[in-house]
Amino acid sequence: MNKLIILILSVLLIVLSVNSNETRWDSSSGSSDTTPGDFDYYLFVQQWIYSYCSESKCIENKEREAFTIHGLWPNDRNNSYPAFCTGPSFDLGEISDLEDQLNVDWISLTEDNDLFWTSEYKKHGTCAVVAGSPISNEHDYFVAGLKLYTQHNLTSALISENIYPSDQDTYESDSISSAINSQFGGQPVMQCDNNKLSTIALCIDKKTLSIMDCPEVDGFDTCSGKVSIPSSSNRL
Ligand code: 5GP
Repeated sequence: MNKLIILILSVLLIVLSVNSNETRWDSSSGSSDTTPGDFDYYLFVQQWIYSYCSESKCIENKEREAFTIHGLWPNDRNNSYPAFCTGPSFDLGEISDLEDQLNVDWISLTEDNDLFWTSEYKKHGTCAVVAGSPISNEHDYFVAGLKLYTQHNLTSALISENIYPSDQDTYESDSISSAINSQFGGQPVMQCDNNKLSTIALCIDKKTLSIMDCPEVDGFDTCSGKVSIPSSSNRL
C-alpha cells in the first residue's frame, strides 16, 4: 500500500515538473489558464517554408517563396499563455468565405490546411475570442490573422531592406530584426533552426490590433550571428 502511494506521488511530481518547464514552443499543450481574453498581447507568428521544410518532412506542392501565417497567439508578458480556452468549438463552415485566402496565406506545411486551422483555433483562437473585443468570434479571429498578414508583408519588407532569400548569402540576425522594425515600427522576435531563419513573430496590441515592440518571449531567442533565409531549393 505504501509503495502504491509513493508511486502515485512520484508520478504526480513528474507531471508537475514537466508542466512547469513548458515553453511557448511545446506545441501540444498550453498553460492551465483557459479563460478567453486573459492575456496581455498577441504574437502574430509567420513561418519561412524553406527553413521549416529543410528540417522536417513537408507535404509536396506547397510552394511559396514567402513567409506564411502560422498563428495569432494570445501571450502574457510573463511568458505564460492561455490555451485551449472554453467556448464554441471550431466550425469550418464559419470561415467558408475566407477559405480561398486562407489556402494561400495560412497554409500547413505538414497536413491538410483545415486541420492546421482547427488546431490553431482550438489551442490559440479560443483564447482570443471575447464579446465586444476586436475578435468576438471564430470568423473575426481568422479575419484578424489575414488582415495582419496583408498589413505586414515580411517578405517584401525584407526585400525593401536588401535582405533576400538565398543559399549563399547570410545576414546578421540583428539586421533582420532591425529591418522589420524600420519597416513596421515594432521590434519583432525570431526563431532559427540550424542558423536558418524559420519564424518571425510580431507583437500586436490586443485592443487596437496594431504593432508594438515585443518584450522578451520564451523560445524566440534562437537566432544569433549570421543566419540564412534559404531559397526554394531547400526541401526535404
Ligand atoms: P502551435 O505551435 O501553433 O502551438 O502548434 C502547431 C501544431 O500545428 C503542431 O502540432 C504542428 O505539428 C502542427 N502544424 C501543422 N502544420 C504546421 C505548419 O505548417 N507549421 C508548424 N510549425 N506546425 C504545423
